[in-house]
Amino acid sequence: MISSKYISLLHENQTPFYFYNMELLQTTLAAVKHAADSRNYVIHYAVKANANERILKTIASYGFGADCVSGNEVKAALSAGFSPRDIVFAGVGKSDQEIDYALRKNIFCFHCESVQELEVINRIAGIQGKRALVALRINPDVSANTHAHITTGTRGNKFGLSPTELDQALGLIPSLNNLRLIGFHFHIGSQITNMEVFEQLAHRINELQAQFFANIPMPYLNVGGGLGVNYTNPEEQPIPNFEEYFSTFHSNLKLPMGQRVHFELGRSVVAQCGCLVTKVLYVKGDELKKFVVVDAGMNDLIRPALYNAVHKIVNISSHSTPEYYDVVGPICETTDCFAHDIQLPETVRGDLLTILSAGAYGEVMSSRYNLREKPLAVYSTSIKEVYNKVGLT
Ligand SMILES: *Cc1c(COP(=O)(O)O)cnc(C)c1O
Repeated sequence: MISSKYISLLHENQTPFYFYNMELLQTTLAAVKHAADSRNYVIHYAVKANANERILKTIASYGFGADCVSGNEVKAALSAGFSPRDIVFAGVGKSDQEIDYALRKNIFCFHCESVQELEVINRIAGIQGKRALVALRINPDVSANTHAHITTGTRGNKFGLSPTELDQALGLIPSLNNLRLIGFHFHIGSQITNMEVFEQLAHRINELQAQFFANIPMPYLNVGGGLGVNYTNPEEQPIPNFEEYFSTFHSNLKLPMGQRVHFELGRSVVAQCGCLVTKVLYVKGDELKKFVVVDAGMNDLIRPALYNAVHKIVNISSHSTPEYYDVVGPICETTDCFAHDIQLPETVRGDLLTILSAGAYGEVMSSRYNLREKPLAVYSTSIKEVYNKVGLT
């Protein structure tokens, strides 16, 4: 993640800040592209994982589509260079204004999550004199076996249509003249590292296709995202195993003729290329517990506070004998803690720490809580160097 050539760069900037290793992002994008292209799979990058403009532009330059969950994400994707024809729009609560905007921009497809939403899109498309392409998001009732707060595909989650609602939607669609149903969509959760979960999803999709779509084969199948990354040892696995992931779907999905499989990868594309760089303000405590107080807080990176997420932390200034510390931020909340009882080399005021694997759901979730400034972003290369590599100017 942090090769020695970046260390001086890290010392030059005002902490805390996100540091993006753009070379690693590009290597990751090349790996996804290679693995997906060889199976004719289509990738839509899930913008919500990291909507930083430079990151979006880099991803767009590889020819991927975008998966958006708000009108402003559609806007950001368009201005970063994603083609409207490759943008899909999901979310349980799209407002009328957001639907109107996305439709005016001629995005590719709406992923609909309720019967009422179908009616609203149909009405707005009618006003614009357009036919909107829609896919139905189905709740497959498959457990992702990850943290409950990032499980989205089981009964009782707010996402997607239940079998009863799916029946209603399919009954209604023929009367909605401004819509065309092209297929269906799933997304069962995030940070999934056990391929058996995706295998189960594929089998469930096969069942649903046989049950609901046997007579009306659909051209579009979107299986969502959710591939996890290695947070405990990111240096060992900077690039997720995309080959294994895609081949799990390839060997388990039974596709009708002409159906194309789409994916919405977020975390797996961007998590490992980013880290949060923070400076040690104080070291305090007693023989029971020592605290390293850093200048980054939960407003900069909320994942530990929100999901009990574990991020590896490295002290890049010290190589002394390891000791046990809690690493905490300055915010007035008990959950403002990046790690409990971890070993770091003996740490002193002024040391720089890097909180690894923070490229996904990091900067994009930062806030101004406690009226702190938002963290800045620093990049390993210029956007020019990034574009040169993919032959853009
Ligand atoms: C969040 C989300 C994704 C991306 O999930 P990752 O775990 O980051 O890959 C994909 N699709 C939808 C609908 C989402 O909400």
